[in-house]
Amino acid sequence: MKDKITYSLKSCDCTSDKYYRTVGTFTNEVLFKINQSTEGLISDFQSFILKNNYEDLRSKNEYVFELLLLGVLWRNYIKKAIILGEVPKAFLIRLMNLREKSKIFKVAVDYIKGFSGKVWLLKENNEINDCDRTIENMKKLLDWLAASGEFNQEVKRLKQWYDYLSNRSLEEVSNVISMVLDLAEWFDFHSEKALGCFTRNVNKFLEENYHKHKWKEDNVYCGRKRIEYHLNMVGAEIMNRAFREDFLKTEEKRLLLPICMRFHCNSDCKAERSTEGYLCTGCTNHCNVNYLTQMGRKYGIKVFIIPHESAAFTKGKIEKNKIGIIGVACVLNLASGGWKAKELGFVPQCVLLDYCGCKNHWSDSDEATEINISKLMDILQISEI
Ligand code: SF4
Repeated sequence: MKDKITYSLKSCDCTSDKYYRTVGTFTNEVLFKINQSTEGLISDFQSFILKNNYEDLRSKNEYVFELLLLGVLWRNYIKKAIILGEVPKAFLIRLMNLREKSKIFKVAVDYIKGFSGKVWLLKENNEINDCDRTIENMKKLLDWLAASGEFNQEVKRLKQWYDYLSNRSLEEVSNVISMVLDLAEWFDFHSEKALGCFTRNVNKFLEENYHKHKWKEDNVYCGRKRIEYHLNMVGAEIMNRAFREDFLKTEEKRLLLPICMRFHCNSDCKAERSTEGYLCTGCTNHCNVNYLTQMGRKYGIKVFIIPHESAAFTKGKIEKNKIGIIGVACVLNLASGGWKAKELGFVPQCVLLDYCGCKNHWSDSDEATEINISKLMDILQISEI
């Protein structure tokens, strides 16, 4: 089999079954570890969320994951964040808003995004070993993440923690940030031991291919480190567990597939556009999308091909908890896709692509991607296809 580009859930076995077993066990370990050190903090934060009417209270484990997220992102990006000036920051945030709202200028905006990202966002201050663990630096981190345009949902989740910590003393803020950094360090080491065999090509990609992206709009996205892959793997597992019961109760279920799963990646694909996404017309039996579409017909599940995450949610908010969606995506989009779906009223579950294969970001040519069908059946409680 061809060597996979960054990650492969099949790299330790010929199927991805082993991955799903491994990530389940490792997620239990992560939750046990973090719960031990954050018990009082999470309860206090949940009271803050309720008191200030931020949102319907989420499960404890979801907030635990957000703390880990803060630690990992601080570790990876704070040295870049603290030197991003006010003017570039304001410019980039406006640019990202324009990109979100208008597709008309996308090509021009992406070109500017790539150039300005390289010049402003990717520079880092290596002279300091440890940045002050202050609320001001947390704000700089959130601004950098927002300016990159790659962490919109992460910023929304962490903004609540920022508001919470803004009311704490300097010492309390420093203690919380120190604690999440310790957790991130623990996670870095242990996630590599547990999940590293599935992501061993990430470093190879960063060393050998990343330079081709330095001036492109995906220079932040493609430069993400191995720990962020592991973070999304664990995050997806936590969210699947948290939303499972509500998902099973939904009246309608949809399966959203990315275009990289099609057998034909160009105009040879005869899928037809609908208001919710593209519908497969079954032009070839070799296509994974066709196979899943037929399964969907048998079990009353609507199957759509989604060109991009943003296209999945064009209709905006829907009636809450009525529609369950199973999003299929590559690792780096898992957590943000789940949060976005939840924000709009869907009840999400996710299945990871076994590997990434799209030419937009990762490879020189498109390669049809796959998923673990047993995992999908398990989520849908289907015993045979
Ligand atoms: S089978 Fe469906 S998704 Fe696959 S290439 Fe044909 S129309 Fe496109």
